[in-house]
Amino acid sequence: QLKETVYLDKLAVAGQMAAAIAHEVRNPMTTIRGMIQFLGSTTTDEKLKEHSPLLIEELDRTNKIITDYLSMVKPDVPKLERVELEKVLMDVISLTAPYGSINNVELTASEIGSYKVCIDEPKLKQGLMNIIKNGIEAIEEGGTIHLYPYKVTKRNITIAIEDNGKGMTEEELEQIGLPFYTTKAKGTGLGMMVTYKLIQDMGGKLRYESVLNEGTRVLLTLPLCTKSSGLVDEGVE
Ligand code: ADP
Ligand code: MG
Repeated sequence: QLKETVYLDKLAVAGQMAAAIAHEVRNPMTTIRGMIQFLGSTTTDEKLKEHSPLLIEELDRTNKIITDYLSMVKPDVPKLERVELEKVLMDVISLTAPYGSINNVELTASEIGSYKVCIDEPKLKQGLMNIIKNGIEAIEEGGTIHLYPYKVTKRNITIAIEDNGKGMTEEELEQIGLPFYTTKAKGTGLGMMVTYKLIQDMGGKLRYESVLNEGTRVLLTLPLCTKSSGLVDEGVE
């Protein structure tokens, strides 16, 4: 018991340090980004004009790596709330639909039903967005991502997020979620690692099923609100 406490304390210190360093690094990065944007749009130098968007893109990617890494190491206790699942899913669909449409991917959902889950809403949204973005990026020439209720038990509800993208081999499937595992030229390989942790920390589960060249189904299991979770009928209303 004691050992665990000490370990957690150290993790907390490491997390705070990482957060502080990330913050310090981000400030000058913001300055650099602004300067490049300014120079790129005002210069008459063709080379600078041509390359400045790439510089900005790379800076944004660096920033995303810091954000993803931070959500991994920051010991951030999830704030569980009683939330209408369907509403969260609809919000996430509206948030990701524009990215879908520029990639020719339609996002659809079956009726979910009126289920209350006991989760951390911002964290669940972040995780779902990572899952859906991956689905969009796996679809090469247009397709669909479909969300539907997969299974309901006394304690849990499982939602499927299914894409008809390029799918994964068994080897690829095994590596998903490992730090820095990516098959994309501009991937960070941190999205699923972060997502697994977010979902796990709120008592949920994530499973992947995939058929190469056919598509992928992500099964997301979330805890329903029960009496013992203390969140029934005294919810936020
Ligand atoms: P990134 O998106 O930056 O590559 P992720 O951790 O989000 O990092 O995903 C890791 C890898 O898992 C991806 O590069 C991709 O190869 C694979 N992957 C994730 N989701 C899917 C999916 N829906 N279909 C096919 N491959 C996927
Ligand atoms: Mg990703």
